[in-house]
Amino acid sequence: MWSDRTVRYCRACGTAVQNRVPDDGDTKVRAVCPACHTIHYQNPLNVVGTIPVWQDRILLCKRNIEPRLGKWTLPAGFLEMGETLAEGAARETREEAGATFAMHELFSVMNVTRVGQVHFFYRAQLLSATFDPGHETQEARLFAAADIPWDELAFRTVSETLKRYLADASTGRFGLHQVDIV
Ligand SMILES: [Zn+2]
Repeated sequence: MWSDRTVRYCRACGTAVQNRVPDDGDTKVRAVCPACHTIHYQNPLNVVGTIPVWQDRILLCKRNIEPRLGKWTLPAGFLEMGETLAEGAARETREEAGATFAMHELFSVMNVTRVGQVHFFYRAQLLSATFDPGHETQEARLFAAADIPWDELAFRTVSETLKRYLADASTGRFGLHQVDIV
């Protein structure tokens, strides 16, 4: 889910960029091309995923790709152009777990400002306990609350989402959780 997005060469002409405040009244340091003057603006990326549930168990996927290869995650990935948040979350769940499910409400919104990402997780109701994971997943498995491998989770946004999900599930009332990961 993480990626190095540092701009080193101009996307328009290939010249090595300079990191400086542009001359147009901007106040932030940007990657500016000294040759063609293109300014490369960078903005946070959206990561979308689901909390898929079968009875009282939660579906986790064991990652088959770096980073965090071999660690467990909720199905999630980068939102694509032309998708709504919910469409992207559903696509990632199909791709990574091969699951059949019904989408429910948005559950968590997490600012990960350190890496320039915002993560969104939706609740999802599995319609079958049979999975057909794609190449990004070694194994898709259902975990009861007591069996969640907390020390083997891939990402902080996953553990923070699961903690809040289990707390809400114990009351039967699901809210929308906004969290800043610092
Ligand atoms: Zn250039």
